[in-house]
Amino acid sequence: MKIGVVGLGLIGGSIFKNLLEGKKHDVVGISRSVNEFNVSKDYNNLKGCDIVFVCTPMNVILEILDKLNNILDEKTIVTDVCSLKEFVSKKNYNFKFIPSHPMAGTEHQGWEYAFPDLFEGATWAVTPLKDTDMKNFAVLKSIIEELGAHTVLTTPQEHDKAVALISHAPMLIAQALCKNIENNELAQTLAASGFRDTTRLAMSNIEMANDMVVMNNENIKDVINMLNSNIEVLFEGDYKSKAKKIKDFRENLYK
Ligand code: NAP
Repeated sequence: MKIGVVGLGLIGGSIFKNLLEGKKHDVVGISRSVNEFNVSKDYNNLKGCDIVFVCTPMNVILEILDKLNNILDEKTIVTDVCSLKEFVSKKNYNFKFIPSHPMAGTEHQGWEYAFPDLFEGATWAVTPLKDTDMKNFAVLKSIIEELGAHTVLTTPQEHDKAVALISHAPMLIAQALCKNIENNELAQTLAASGFRDTTRLAMSNIEMANDMVVMNNENIKDVINMLNSNIEVLFEGDYKSKAKKIKDFRENLYK
């Protein structure tokens, strides 16, 4: 297959490096900054691609999809990888658009930090549109599996609520926890591995974090309200048995 990747940062660079390493496909990269074999700034090089992965920041993705609409036709399957799915699912394009989101990443950004194994064992959410032909989904799925991930089908709305629960709100909470101790030198000195693990998401890519907070704020607010009521429930007595249930749940979550 001819596979295109637009935006060779952490996610796009990792897809590109993996597919290039696999040597099964003709891989074409579109980048403003990376100078490598098979990479150029010219979007016309994507013509004739079977699949294109669009891996730019969320705040430019709609612009990039519009640009691709003038270049690609109905033969190409296009997926974006951005962290929210409802806002990208509203428009029709000439190409076959199937929104998706790999649940993999690190706190780093850019080509230098991209690595081919980033998606090994990861879940990759896919939110087909009403008119998505499942034969095209199967083609996309086969490449996602080559990257080492497995697909989970859902709707854009359910996806955006779920990522608020597991990623966007936890990041905001991690940032708030850091803010809690910014004027307390003793707490900073005593902070050890527990605090470090709990606040890892405060190290997130700032541009991406900004897009998440601005674009998914309603779902994030719902999670924060839910969190406040769950904390109240924990304070309401019989803390020990509630904590035990949570400990068991957390233990099973990553089994
Ligand atoms: P990143 O490392 O910053 O890469 C984004 C790349 O997009 C840049 O390296 C750049 O590539 C290109 N780009 C930046 N600004 C652009 C612009 N104005 N116009 C066109 N291209 C532009 O970020 P990332 O972590 O890979 O995130 C990319 C996408 O993946 C985002 O939509 C994000 O929501 C999603 N995502 C991220 C993670 C994560 O944990 N990091 C996980 C899942 C999904 P070139 O220099 O090559 O043009």
